[in-house]
Amino acid sequence: MIRLIFEIAFMVFWISMFIIRYPHAQKNKFNTIQKDRKTNEEKILLAITSLGMLLLPVLYVITPFLDFANYHLPNAMGILGMVLLSPASILFYRSHRDLGRNWSASLEIREEHSLVVSGVYKHMRHPMYTAIWIWVICQALLLQNYIAGLSGIISFGLLYFLRVGKEERMMKLQFGEQYVSYTKSTKRLIPNLF
Ligand code: SAH
Repeated sequence: MIRLIFEIAFMVFWISMFIIRYPHAQKNKFNTIQKDRKTNEEKILLAITSLGMLLLPVLYVITPFLDFANYHLPNAMGILGMVLLSPASILFYRSHRDLGRNWSASLEIREEHSLVVSGVYKHMRHPMYTAIWIWVICQALLLQNYIAGLSGIISFGLLYFLRVGKEERMMKLQFGEQYVSYTKSTKRLIPNLF
């Protein structure tokens, strides 16, 4: 019974993440792309992430096909997963709102791209990735299955570690000294408290 509650909580969260992103994806569709860094590697990584964070969780929740790979965590871990859904969705919402027209699902510089250093971006350089890290941790805590639970951490982990350096190099090339000084006052994923 409690497994079902965990799964429902995760799916409600999962749908709300789509609802948060949808208007930004629609609006930004019409922004002209000035520099496209969407390489084949990037396309493959995005496809793997879609499999790990979108397709496998749905398959697990709506069919019994992956049930052979279930694991069982103490209930406290599932409850922790439910608690963490709120900071993940707040940070996901705020980072989309603060990036505005500069947001894109892959590595791109848009026409009139500006460097955002306010809102949540004042505290860290990659708040959207922080939100997604919390999301995939929740996935492992709430979908207790070796395939559908861990596929989020594995696929997003791969995307994150192969992308973040490139993204920062792209931003440095575009914004020069302004970005360099921004990197000095912020950390990648957590607030710089000192
Ligand atoms: N890494 C960021 C943004 C992810 S969206 C985060 O985790 O919050 C990816 C796109 O955002 C990149 O293509 C880049 O063009 C843009 N971007 C990243 N940081 C930015 C910033 N501080 N200001 C403006 N655009 C940014």
